[in-house]
Amino acid sequence: MVGASAMRKLVAGNWKMNGLRADGLALARAVADRAAAAAPDCDLLICPPATLLAEIAAALRGGRVALGGQDCHAEAKGAHTGDISAEMLKDAGCVYVIVGHSERRANHHESDALVRAKALTARGQGLIPIVCVGETAAERDAGRTLAVIGAQLAASVPDGLGATELVIAYEPVWAIGTGRTPRPAEVAEVHAFIHGALRKRIAEAASPRLLYGGSVNAGNAADLMAVANVDGALVGGASLDAAAFWAIAEACR
Ligand code: PEP
Repeated sequence: MVGASAMRKLVAGNWKMNGLRADGLALARAVADRAAAAAPDCDLLICPPATLLAEIAAALRGGRVALGGQDCHAEAKGAHTGDISAEMLKDAGCVYVIVGHSERRANHHESDALVRAKALTARGQGLIPIVCVGETAAERDAGRTLAVIGAQLAASVPDGLGATELVIAYEPVWAIGTGRTPRPAEVAEVHAFIHGALRKRIAEAASPRLLYGGSVNAGNAADLMAVANVDGALVGGASLDAAAFWAIAEACR
């Protein structure tokens, strides 16, 4: 199934600003073909650029790979040149949308309040927001990791969502695209903290899935996916290679 499953890990590919029609479609088909041939033990999601969504949605239809957007606007519609609405994503075939990625927080000056508003708007369209949080290197070095994550969770995660209506991605900013990852014990510490913080706010026995993101690759995925409270991965660079992305999915077994 391509929706939310509280039981299985979720491996999500964030293609960022990569992919033209020919290679993007080929990559999506390669992932979908692998998933069709060998049912993965996790939920699979790809988040291509907006220009490719509709075409890739058609290619994925009826298969085991879900589609997501990389961002949406907080408003439902209107005079927002260049932006994309949650309803447009839904209309294009998306099930998920990433909000609050550190690249958007940094490059587009997105605040926690804006990220929260985007998550709510996405939810209003029935999309599952993947809310990203993470500390910078300076914040980690200053011993402020949990304080930073706690503040981001408090202000950018909406209240009142159920466990299957939300995904959180812990992405240390210093680990994104750098080839550096936190030690498993450091990931475990942050994920336990997020788990505890959300349990107080989610009115259900279950907890939303907590993804780890930041330089996940075929070589380190098994160790990272084995960490307690890690319910999947948000994958950037390695999601642009079908074999590497599939190896990460396999690491969830
Ligand atoms: C990301 O940008 O969400 C990400 C995790 O990137 P990478 O895997 O390339 O570090």
